[in-house]
Amino acid sequence: MALDRFGRNIHYLRISLTDHCNLRCIYCMPEDQTFRPNASLLQDGEILLLARLFASLGFDKIRLTGGEPTVRANIVEIVRGIASTPGIRSLSMTTNGVMLKRLAQPLKDAGLQRVNVSIDTLDPEKFRRLTRWGKIDDVWNGILAAEEVGLVPVKLNAVVVKGYNEDDVIDLAALTIDRPWQMRYIEMMPFAGVTDIQTQQIVTASQIQQKIESEFGPLEATGKYDGEARIFRIHGGKGELGFISSVTVPFCSACTRARLTADGVLRMCLLREKEIDLLTPLRAGATLEDLRALILEAVWNKPWGHGLDEGVIPLNRAMNQIGG
Ligand code: SAM
Ligand code: SF4
Repeated sequence: MALDRFGRNIHYLRISLTDHCNLRCIYCMPEDQTFRPNASLLQDGEILLLARLFASLGFDKIRLTGGEPTVRANIVEIVRGIASTPGIRSLSMTTNGVMLKRLAQPLKDAGLQRVNVSIDTLDPEKFRRLTRWGKIDDVWNGILAAEEVGLVPVKLNAVVVKGYNEDDVIDLAALTIDRPWQMRYIEMMPFAGVTDIQTQQIVTASQIQQKIESEFGPLEATGKYDGEARIFRIHGGKGELGFISSVTVPFCSACTRARLTADGVLRMCLLREKEIDLLTPLRAGATLEDLRALILEAVWNKPWGHGLDEGVIPLNRAMNQIGG
């Protein structure tokens, strides 16, 4: 078990497989974002070695993210390798869904259990505007493919941005009336790259909830949390709504996460700049014991929480370079 100095059991690792992406969401990165050369990213064998190492320290839950994880070469083989790592009991992926129509079945066969698909609006034109060039049909077909092959329960993520999609939260919520899906609304967080939009166009979770309630009436609180999301239902709905209020009501005290970026650094808080390089020592010949010690020390020193309240914004990376 990997404990931090506050007694939190850190057992959930998000691995970013690449900083590259086939979209350019306006809340994530600038249009002219440059990406790291592949040689500076963790190679397949390095990912699997680190996954085994983390699993040996009690990490039992892994989510693959990016950038866009499905644009990573050998994604199916990487999933197969991680899924068969002893100790890993939960393996999921956050994806923009564009490639899922083709990849859902092979990923499921390789051992992926679930996907969270990002979809911020159902309106094709607004979707294009938010992602700079995405086609909503690709994502929709990806979601249906994921459900069909059993990557369930289907969970959808929407980042809500003032002036772009704040009214679309209603149509997205309506998806949960007839479908057993979980629609999750995420408060936009600030990083490098597009900090102005992220700080000036945020819509809070409570504003999102009010907007949804203005259409469907009071939501039913389930009293449940799913990870960081507070879970509600529309009365009579088959699915669920989740609100992720990382900015206005942080869940730091219950955080059990660590993040491994695509270039091999460990980030113990999404919203703090501090990072611990694992790739350089790994390539320099560090032993597994050396790496284990580095990870345990990083876990022990995991920050208590973020500093957005005090105006501390992490500016050393854009979101796609960390992994959401
Ligand atoms: N490309 C994949 C996707 O979009 O789902 C995975 C990586 S993306 C960085 C992971 C999640 O972070 C997505 O749900 C995305 O909407 C969310 N995200 C991106 N920028 C964000 C921001 N500034 N604040 C909050 N969430 C953000
Ligand atoms: Fe790509 Fe995901 Fe960032 Fe959108 S949120 S640009 S899909 S990494």
